[in-house]
Amino acid sequence: MQAKSRVASDRSLTQRLARAFAAVSVLIVATLAVTGGCFAVVLAHFEPSVNALIAGRGAIDDVQNGMLDEETGLRGYLDSGNQVFLSSYYVGQQEILGGDSASITLATRPDLVGPTIAMRVAQQRWFSEWGTPALAIERAVTSTSERQSFLLSGKALFDAYRTASAALSTQVDVDIASEQTAEHALVLMALAIAGGMLVLTILVARRQHRGLRAAVVTPVNDLLTTMRKVGAGDLTAQPAGVGPPELREVAAELGQMTMTLAEERSRLAAFESEARSQAARLGLIVNVGREISGSLNLRYVAEAVGKAGLTISGFETVRMWIINEDRRLSLVHDTNVDHGQTGEHASLQLGEGLVGRAGQFGRTLATLSAGSLATEYRVGSRIAALAVPMIVGARIIGVLELMSGEPIAVDESSLDVLHSLAGQAATAVEAARFHQSADELSHTDALTHLPNRRRLELDLDLEVARSQRYNRPLACIMLDVDHFKKVNDVHGHQAGDEILSEFGSAFARSLRDSDTAYRYGGEEFCVLLRETDAHAAAVVAERLRLEIANRFAGIRGSAMVTASLGVAAIPSDAIDAKTLVAAADRALYAAKAAGRNCVVRATPTRAVRVSTTRARSRSTLPPELPVVVRDEPAAF
Ligand code: GH3
Ligand code: MG
Ligand code: MG
Repeated sequence: MQAKSRVASDRSLTQRLARAFAAVSVLIVATLAVTGGCFAVVLAHFEPSVNALIAGRGAIDDVQNGMLDEETGLRGYLDSGNQVFLSSYYVGQQEILGGDSASITLATRPDLVGPTIAMRVAQQRWFSEWGTPALAIERAVTSTSERQSFLLSGKALFDAYRTASAALSTQVDVDIASEQTAEHALVLMALAIAGGMLVLTILVARRQHRGLRAAVVTPVNDLLTTMRKVGAGDLTAQPAGVGPPELREVAAELGQMTMTLAEERSRLAAFESEARSQAARLGLIVNVGREISGSLNLRYVAEAVGKAGLTISGFETVRMWIINEDRRLSLVHDTNVDHGQTGEHASLQLGEGLVGRAGQFGRTLATLSAGSLATEYRVGSRIAALAVPMIVGARIIGVLELMSGEPIAVDESSLDVLHSLAGQAATAVEAARFHQSADELSHTDALTHLPNRRRLELDLDLEVARSQRYNRPLACIMLDVDHFKKVNDVHGHQAGDEILSEFGSAFARSLRDSDTAYRYGGEEFCVLLRETDAHAAAVVAERLRLEIANRFAGIRGSAMVTASLGVAAIPSDAIDAKTLVAAADRALYAAKAAGRNCVVRATPTRAVRVSTTRARSRSTLPPELPVVVRDEPAAF
């Protein structure tokens, strides 16, 4: 049963339609054949047969009429002897001739053969035994009795004929009736068969219609439902794929089309999300670019680039390395290390490791796992670390290093964005460095390479503020070269410059790391001593004085140079930057006054402590400023 229905469902729509058409056609043809056959039989057989019988029946009547005319004529002639009556006889004879030839066809039917012969025999007997003799009878010679008996015999013969004729007529009527009944039955049968066949045709057509409906409508509805779902955006919809092969094929094509659409849609969605994330990354780059291009602070630039690098790449750590003047890479920022704790000492040789090689060759390099060799980056490979060179023009100025504990894949667009970030970072770092060096230059004295007075003013404010905030001492030494005008005069300005330029190393030898010497102007210098009180500062000043005196001792014609130094400190001698410098300055004047080449320490006085105005208003040296150390007076 199942096999049968499977076979039926495997039938193609064309086959089904052909079968339905064939079934209905066969039934219609059969109906037409059967009814046509019946009517053919009626027309070919019954109609001629009935017509022949009716004609035969008429002929019997014609003969009978002829016989009556003959008999009447003969009787009249016999009764009257007048031959006029014989005309009736001759008319009758003609009628009989026509009727005989017509009625002879009746003998073709077996059942009429006997009655026809019987009638003809009776007819012939009447003729031969009565009719023909009657014509020959001489009225004159025959007696009445003879005539009478002759007439009687004639009557008997004629009655016999009439009986036979009636019997034949009756039989012909019976035959006509029977033929007509059979004909009607056949017509009825033909109509019944035609009706039955018509009903059967309708039933078969209905059945085929139902079959076709079931085979086509359900699958078409299934297809329509799926198409509507697909049209509404549901690309997971798939047709059931039922029905004849053609519709199953359409369903399969629709399913395939839907799947292709779904794939295309997800591809587009992926593309869109990639485009969005790329746009977001580019937006980030633009923002970072805007942010860092406005900053000339290297640390700020490095932090912003590191943060953006983390967001863009998905790596866990971003480091920025900068190539220094000594051609080494220094670590300036590490996103994993808190602000201010970046390993200042971390540095690499160019060509050393992943970062060193990227910095040397200016190419983006990667390592696939921690500790593995640096290779050219390939899109798609999973990498543990990536080094992107920071390039300005044709110069490599540093490297962005990106690291992850778990190796990750970096796609091409992310890499493009990283390159762009590295490019922007390079430009910003370069600008910051230029600014830094310009700043340094503007705060550095060209002759002595010591920070200048502008730098002193900036530092002094900061240091005084710190000293006050933490209540820590801060000392200041003012130094002036003794009789330097004369040094210039005697040894030349050039020699004077050389002497001054050596003061940088003289300070370096005598001062601690926490002390800073500044060129205050001309042949005057200032030293700031952090966390140092006046007493300790005076010790340093004395060491400095000796260093200068020893360095420029005037051996073999060279200049003999000494210096006078004044020392003051917060909080013992001053309360702010201004009063501190003024106190040290006053002490310096005292040293000059005391004969030069000595150190004078400012003495805490009420005047200095209480009011700087009062102190400044004094035009002469305060007598309370003592000479702490006094060597020999200057030679000039
Ligand atoms: P003293 O300070 O001991 O009173 O005498 P002084 O000769 O040093 O006096 P003063 O301060 O009046 O003169 C400073 C001289 O230093 C004047 C100037 O020619 C010289 N001088 C200042 N700056 C420079 C410099 O950069 N190079 C040279 N060669 N000389 C300088
Ligand atoms: Mg001077
Ligand atoms: Mg001087």
